[in-house]
Amino acid sequence: MKCPDCGNEMDLVDKTTFTGREVRDYYCNACKRSVVEHGDTALWQILSDAREEAEKARKADEKQKK
Ligand SMILES: [Zn+2]
Repeated sequence: MKCPDCGNEMDLVDKTTFTGREVRDYYCNACKRSVVEHGDTALWQILSDAREEAEKARKADEKQKK
């Protein structure tokens, strides 16, 4: 990871992995700034979330009709 300001290589200070998502915390010693980089979210995670939402909406809709 290169600093967007000065182009120096940044230090990786923290790395967190949530379900299917990686968040990395970088720090630039030259600029004294930190940058949080969000890794790619797995595509299957997005698809499964969208399907779950659609399913919830459909069930709520069914309840209202009865
Ligand atoms: Zn920098």
